[in-house]
Amino acid sequence: MTDRRGFLIGALAATTAALPHAARAADAGKAGKLRPRVVSTWDFGVAANRAAWQILGKGGSVLDAVEAGARVPEADPKNHTVGRAGYPDRDGRLTLDASIMDGNGDCGAVAAIEHIAHPISVARRVMEKTPHVLLVGDGALQFALQQGFPKEDLLTPESEQAWREWLKKGEYKPRANSENKTYGEGKPGDANNHDTLGLLAVDAQGRLAGACTTSGMAWKLHGRAGDSPIIGAGLYVDNEVGAATSTGVGEEVIRTAGSFLVVELMRQGHSPQEACRYAVQRIMRRRMKVAKDLQVGFLALSRSGEVGAYAIQKGFSYAVCDAGKQDALRQSSSAL
Ligand code: ASP
Repeated sequence: MTDRRGFLIGALAATTAALPHAARAADAGKAGKLRPRVVSTWDFGVAANRAAWQILGKGGSVLDAVEAGARVPEADPKNHTVGRAGYPDRDGRLTLDASIMDGNGDCGAVAAIEHIAHPISVARRVMEKTPHVLLVGDGALQFALQQGFPKEDLLTPESEQAWREWLKKGEYKPRANSENKTYGEGKPGDANNHDTLGLLAVDAQGRLAGACTTSGMAWKLHGRAGDSPIIGAGLYVDNEVGAATSTGVGEEVIRTAGSFLVVELMRQGHSPQEACRYAVQRIMRRRMKVAKDLQVGFLALSRSGEVGAYAIQKGFSYAVCDAGKQDALRQSSSAL
């Protein structure tokens, strides 16, 4: 039995090694070309990357780095799509989603958690202190409190004002988050009503980790969870290949297991850029009638530090940070 299992595992490893991308990454490792790098979604990814780099740049743990990075927008009072200053659901309740994963397949997540300012840190505790992957709603809150996280009233006066404005019409209409220049500016409710911080990092040994955190779609139904806390949808990481994360209308990403799809395309030999483009095209093909009004963007990082990004709409920015430059901000290519 053990022999047969050993044989099967050996055969599987041989198959993986034969795939072009895995071979490329392995070569990069041998040649000492692996370069520590952090990438993340949107303009606010720049500050998140810097915090992650403080750890990764000194040879620290890649998991500590992604968690530290994700905590930055979670704490930012100007960010209405992530963390404490996020816009609430249609009942005026702020519920947050987050997930964390490392390249060995360890992962944890919380969905629709209330009253906790740093859902990414609770997600990490789910991963490290429980036999589970995902805790939701009251159960997630209960666990966070047991773990010593403080219970807070998170809804900011600005978010409450935006919600009261929205209530006048009470119409749920996700706005394509393609112009994130309104981040932190304008009057309440002006800014995009959804965005996510997805952050991916690789260290000098090719070890990867990722974090994903959001307040989800503003004015959503109470209890709605998006793609961000769903492993394989909003985030996926595999040390053999690379990592991917997503932003945009979470329902569309869940329908295609988006981040998993991107990583699997990379495993088949596609570059991170091609993999993100194919995943976006898959969504557009399957959702032809609605795709033109939606935004979905993917960001991917290979084990050897190669970066790719692609979105349905223009305007999806992403931040790249490495030893050479800590605050690079780029625009992804897009289908429309
Ligand atoms: N993906 C997030 C969600 O659906 C929102 C976003 O990134 O725009 O909750």
